[in-house]
Amino acid sequence: QLERVGFIGLGNMGSRMANNLIKAGYKVTVHDLNHNVMKLFSERGVLTKDLPSEIAETSDVIITMLPSSTHVLDVYTGPNGLLSSGNRLRPWLFIDSSTIDPQTSRKLSVAISNCALKEKKDYWETPVMLDAPVSGGVLAAEAGTLTFMVGGLEEAYLAAKSLFLSMGKSTIYCGGAGNGSAAKICNNLAMAVSMLGVSEAFSLGQSLGISASTLTKILNSSSGRCWSSDSYNPVPGVMEGVPSSRNYDGGFASKLMAKDLNIAFASATEVGVKCPLTSHAKKIFTELCNHGHGMEDFSCVFRHYYSGKEE
Ligand code: NAD
Repeated sequence: QLERVGFIGLGNMGSRMANNLIKAGYKVTVHDLNHNVMKLFSERGVLTKDLPSEIAETSDVIITMLPSSTHVLDVYTGPNGLLSSGNRLRPWLFIDSSTIDPQTSRKLSVAISNCALKEKKDYWETPVMLDAPVSGGVLAAEAGTLTFMVGGLEEAYLAAKSLFLSMGKSTIYCGGAGNGSAAKICNNLAMAVSMLGVSEAFSLGQSLGISASTLTKILNSSSGRCWSSDSYNPVPGVMEGVPSSRNYDGGFASKLMAKDLNIAFASATEVGVKCPLTSHAKKIFTELCNHGHGMEDFSCVFRHYYSGKEE
């Protein structure tokens, strides 16, 4: 049974994802610390609860979409958290779509499996957890075209697929607990490094006398082509409809990129893998945030780090 969905974290992403679940006909109950956003939902007739534990009491499945590991741990294991009812835990499935470190996803998965269900459900005797971070950003969350990368028990993934497809256009099963989170941070580290590479190439190219539009044509028909050059170009005026053409407004905030790179670096350190580019990218994005650009789209690295001048 997946009918009653509890949704926690109604920010830029979560509010839109919850809206798509409501549109798809699920009975959604929501919670957020922000009372203004809760009010907006309750004014539309959506059931709201003041505590995560109250959400757990009335839901078959819980979805969390929170900023970072600390917030996720707070909502699951804190006082009045989702797991505070211990072995009377009701929901049989917990899905965390936040971008967090794989180690925390794995710890939570174990904590959830350890909670025995009072009432035995159809599929499992114990509740299960899926880590299911997304790619696609706010526009995709709005349009219901996110991609979910999912770690955890495969049967749970298959059972939850229709739920994912109410909020997204595709789902990829990544393997055991924590593998969705691992996939997400690896994708974002590749995205950060390629954005830095493209920005560096444009900075040098322009200084050597090549126009940004010519260099874009060259890269996009040559081996330097990548998402940062052909879909999300960081140079203002080269492409329409991307953050660089609207003063780096909207898009994927630099502070979220810095957070993801911190997670990638900490994970790499934990497993003893060398990640020199992650380390360098982390420094650059942290510096951008420290200089007050944390809310700007991460492609603003071209303006603030490379050209060093305001346009
Ligand atoms: P956001 O900051 O806009 O929203 C987070 C929401 O969680 C806020 O409404 C906040 O009030 C709420 N919250 C925080 N702590 C809480 C708690 N203890 N209890 C209840 N509610 C709490 O963040 P977002 O942009 O929606 O991103 C959410 C997650 O999705 C992040 O992990 C982010 O890295 C990831 N993500 C974001 C994007 C993007 O483009 N914004 C894209 C992909 C993935």
